[in-house]
Amino acid sequence: MRSSNLLILVAAVGSAVACDSCYGPSSEVVHERLVPRIQPESQDSTVNPKAPLEWGQLNFLHTTDTHGWLEGHLKEQNYGADWGDFVSFQRHMKQKAGNLAVDLLVVDTGDLHDGAGLSDAVLPNGVLSNPIFDEIDYDVLTIGNHELYVSEIAYEHFYNFSKVWGEKYVTSNVQILNPATGAFDYIGAKYRYFSTAHGLRIMTFGVLFDFTGNSNVSKVIKAADMVKQQWFLDAVNYDQPIDLFLLVGHNPVDRSDYANTLGLVHSTIRALRPDTPVQAFGGHSHIRDFKVYDDKSTALESGRYCETLGWLSISGIKSSSYTGLMQPRGVANPSRPATNTSTSGLVYSRRYLDWNRRTFEYHATNSQASTFDYHSGLRVSGDITDVRKKLNLTSLYGCAPATYCQACKPFGAEGNIFSLIPIALGATVINASRSDIARYIIVNSGSIRFDLVKGPFTYDDSFIVSPFNDAFQYIPNVPYEMAHKVLAGLNGAVLPDKRGEGLVYGSMPQVKDSCVDPTISLITGTGSELKTRGIHRRQTVASTPGYVTTDDFGTDGDDTPHTKIPSYTQPNYIQGNASFPADGSNPDVVDVVFFDYFASVVVNVLNGFGGAYSMADVAYYVDKSYTAQNYLPDYAKLEWQANVPNCPVGEGVGYDE
Ligand SMILES: [Zn+2]
Ligand SMILES: [Zn+2]
Repeated sequence: MRSSNLLILVAAVGSAVACDSCYGPSSEVVHERLVPRIQPESQDSTVNPKAPLEWGQLNFLHTTDTHGWLEGHLKEQNYGADWGDFVSFQRHMKQKAGNLAVDLLVVDTGDLHDGAGLSDAVLPNGVLSNPIFDEIDYDVLTIGNHELYVSEIAYEHFYNFSKVWGEKYVTSNVQILNPATGAFDYIGAKYRYFSTAHGLRIMTFGVLFDFTGNSNVSKVIKAADMVKQQWFLDAVNYDQPIDLFLLVGHNPVDRSDYANTLGLVHSTIRALRPDTPVQAFGGHSHIRDFKVYDDKSTALESGRYCETLGWLSISGIKSSSYTGLMQPRGVANPSRPATNTSTSGLVYSRRYLDWNRRTFEYHATNSQASTFDYHSGLRVSGDITDVRKKLNLTSLYGCAPATYCQACKPFGAEGNIFSLIPIALGATVINASRSDIARYIIVNSGSIRFDLVKGPFTYDDSFIVSPFNDAFQYIPNVPYEMAHKVLAGLNGAVLPDKRGEGLVYGSMPQVKDSCVDPTISLITGTGSELKTRGIHRRQTVASTPGYVTTDDFGTDGDDTPHTKIPSYTQPNYIQGNASFPADGSNPDVVDVVFFDYFASVVVNVLNGFGGAYSMADVAYYVDKSYTAQNYLPDYAKLEWQANVPNCPVGEGVGYDE
C-alpha cells in the first residue's frame, strides 16, 4: 500500500521537477514549497538555514537525548523531520565528506527513550525504537542515564544494543552485572582507538556523569575514580600515536553545571598530554551549548528530542598519517581559533541545525529536494509509520484547540499548560463515592514533560506530555483551614523530583525523480558548494520562533536564526479543585488529593500546619491504575471533541496563533 502511494507521489513530483533542475540555473526566489511529507502528519519548515556549513579536516554530526522522538515533531514545523530523513541526510553528508577528502564522524551521547510513544508504549522501553535508531551509521555512541533506571532496559542495552554497535559503543565508566559470570562487565567498550577514513588516529572515552539513580544491576564509576584507573592512564598514554582525544559523554559540557565531569576528564588528559587536541560532545541538560576548554579543546552539546542536530568542524589537527585535506575546496572552512591567544593552529566552527527536511535538503543537496531521499531513508520512515500504527500511537482522544506550553507563557496566562492542568484535574479525577466532597488535586509540575501542542491529542501525546505512572492518593476530610495552605506549603518545600532534566521548550517530505540517489555529481560536477542557488531572496517569513543560543563562540551558532521563545519560571506544584460550595463559601473539610510520588511531603506540610497525620492516613483516591498518564486523555475525550477527526494542526510552540 505504502509503496504504491509513494510511487504516485514520485511520479507527480518527478514531472513537476524536471531532472535538469538539479543542475539548472539558480532561481532568485524560493517559493513556498508544497511538499509531500514523510510521516503523514508532519509539516516542514518554511525558513532556510542562514548559510552553508563550514567543512574542515575533521567534521562531526552529533545527536543527543533523542528520547524516542524518532518520528520527529509531528505538530511543529521547526522539527518535522523523522529518523528516515536523518538516515538520508547523514548518508549525503558522509558522501560529501568523501568527495571533499575530509573526515566526518557521527556521534550520539545517549538517553534513547522516555519521551515519546515510539519508545515508551512498549516494554521494555526502546525494543521497537532502538532498531530504528540503529539505522544511522554512527561512529561512536555512549550511554545515558535513562538507559539505567530499569534493569530490563539496562540489559536490553547490554545484550542487544551493545552487540549491534560493538566497539563503537563506548561506556568507560558504566558496568552491568553479567548474570553469566556474576561479575560486573562494561556495557560497551572501555575506550575506542581507531583511525578515520583519512588516517586520523583517535582515542575515545565515553563518560556518563556521576549518576546515582541507576537500578542495582549497574555500576557507574565516578569520573574522579575513573581518571585514576590504570587502564585509563594507559589509554591516555597509549603505545600508538593519538592525533585527537574524542570525549563523548552523557554529561553537560558546561563545567559549572553540577553534573559536569567532562571537565575533569579533559583536565586529566591535558595534564598528561599537553599538546593533543581534545574534542568533547555532551548531553543530558537538554540545551544547545558550546564551550571552549582550552586552545586545543572545545565541547559541543546538541539539545534534545530530535530538535537539534549538532555540527562541529576542526582544521589544523597535526597528524603524520592524515591523507585528507586540511581546508577542503569549494566549501566554507572553519576559521576561528578556540581562544584569542591560541597558537595551536586549530580552528573551529560549530552550528546547531533545526531538525527539519528543509534544513537537511539545504545542507545535503543545496535545497534540491528531488535528490534528497535515499531508499534506506524512506524505508526507515516507513518503519516508523508502521510501528506507530502497530502501537496505536495515532489513536485520537481529541483535538487540542491551542498550544499549551510549559514555560513560554507566564504562570496563570492563557496558553500556559499549568492553566489547563487544574481544569483537567478537576474534571477527571473523581471518586464517585466522594464526588460531592470538596477536593484539592495537587500535582508536581515536573510530571509534565513536554508542551501540549495544538492539533490531534493522541495516545502518543499521552507519553509525550504526561508519561509518568504516579497514582492519585488522598487524605480525607482535612480541615479547610489547613487544606487551603497545602499548595503554598508544598511550593516552599524541597522538591523530591529527581526527574527534572533541563525543563522547557523547544516537523517533512520526500521525493524522488530521475536525478535519484547519489548526489556526488552535484558536488563534484558543479565545483562549488557555495553556489547555494535560490537563497538570495525569500518569499517566506523572515524569522520564526525557536532556539536563540548564546555560547562561548557568541550568538551565531543557530543554523536557522529565530526569534526567542520566552521562558518563565513555573511553580513546582499546581492545584485543581472541584465540588466546592457553589455559593462561594468555604467548606468545613476538604479531600486533599495528590500523587503518591510526593505523599510523604504532603503529610509533612500538613503537620507543619499543626496536623497530626501519618502515612497511615493516606489512601488511594481512585484506583491506583489511574495515573498521571490518564487524566489528560480523559479530559480530551470530554472537552476536545470539536474538529474530530479533521483536527487542524498549529505551527508549533512559540507561534502565537
Ligand atoms: Zn535526556
Ligand atoms: Zn540524561
